[in-house]
Amino acid sequence: MHQIIIIGSGPAGFTAAIYAARAGLKPVLFASSVAIGGELMNTTEVENFPGFPEGIQGPDLMQKMQEQAERFGTEVVYDDVVEVDFSGAVKRLTAGDGTVHEARTVIYATGSAYRKLGLPDEDRLSGHGVSWCATCDGFFFREKTIAVVGGGDSAMEEATFLTRFADKVYVIHRREELKASKIMQQRAFDNEKIEFVWNAEIAGIQGESQVTGVTLRSTVDGAESELALDGLFIAIGNDPRTHLVHGKLDLTADGTVAVEGRSSRTSSRGVFAAGDVVDPTYRQAITAAASGTVAALDAEHYLAAIDDHAEPEIVELDRVEVEALVER
Ligand SMILES: Cc1cc2nc3c(=O)[nH]c(=O)nc-3n(C[C@H](O)[C@H](O)[C@H](O)COP(=O)(O)OP(=O)(O)OC[C@H]3O[C@@H](n4cnc5c(N)ncnc54)[C@H](O)[C@@H]3O)c2cc1C
Repeated sequence: MHQIIIIGSGPAGFTAAIYAARAGLKPVLFASSVAIGGELMNTTEVENFPGFPEGIQGPDLMQKMQEQAERFGTEVVYDDVVEVDFSGAVKRLTAGDGTVHEARTVIYATGSAYRKLGLPDEDRLSGHGVSWCATCDGFFFREKTIAVVGGGDSAMEEATFLTRFADKVYVIHRREELKASKIMQQRAFDNEKIEFVWNAEIAGIQGESQVTGVTLRSTVDGAESELALDGLFIAIGNDPRTHLVHGKLDLTADGTVAVEGRSSRTSSRGVFAAGDVVDPTYRQAITAAASGTVAALDAEHYLAAIDDHAEPEIVELDRVEVEALVER
């Protein structure tokens, strides 16, 4: 049986692994079978992760995190966890190849997925003008013409934020009214750099190595038109990857895994959660990494508290008692 299994290979998972491995817990990290390295694998330049003054490519940063985790003894498994059983003191995880793995603690760090438009060129131009994160990429669009797709609060927030850099920001929305709160709408309406394109959806994205424009399709009569752009920000929602733990861990109203206060403790004893899967607000590599640290330390303290007590008591300890032990 393992001391700790980590599910997820983004900044949260690998940072948790670095801490757990350095604490001698010999973590096993399930990295996924296809999307190893998390969301930063979909981007190019990362300029806001401390320690890289010249910036670093997203995949290079993730490679370094993995190397650092492995250097201290993390075992990385290139498979998905497809089922979890958190009901007992021993957690049981089933991998994609059918094997069952047991652990005393689990760190759930599966991230979240930005909703996509589903267009063929969207992934190809990701990091080359197509973005899902204004905080991450707005800086690259100084004095450019860009568009934000979406009609909710986050689309309004992103559009307003992007006017700090871009000369012109179109907001493209399928309907002729917004879902966003009145205050967010008004802020966008009052901003003279923002122009709304109503009743339109994106039918195609153009550009060989960089976005050059989009094809718009009217949702009223289907008429198509071209719009020249340097960048396209997609702000149509974000889904925390919680499908594995529905009915097994409490979730918040935002759909993220619920954790207690500033800790990573979930509703299931011995299961900790970290990164974007617990974060409806910040969703940055550095906040995910920090959250991975919290989870590893919480797991370490939990194990230490349990190991300080005789075996029969372990099973009898309820959540409050374990927390009291962890506090000490
Ligand atoms: C295009 C883009 C550009 C970005 N640029 C920046 C930037 O410049 N700076 C910045 O700070 N942030 C940036 N971000 C945000 C940043 O990538 C995320 O905040 C961060 O990656 C979240 O880390 P995480 O570890 O929580 O999750 P993720 O990075 O999403 O990693 C989770 C991992 O878990 C794996 N996983 C999920 N389910 C399972 C399972 N059942 N079994 C095994 N593995 C599983 C996933 O495949 C994934 O690899 C960007 C995001 C995007 C999409």
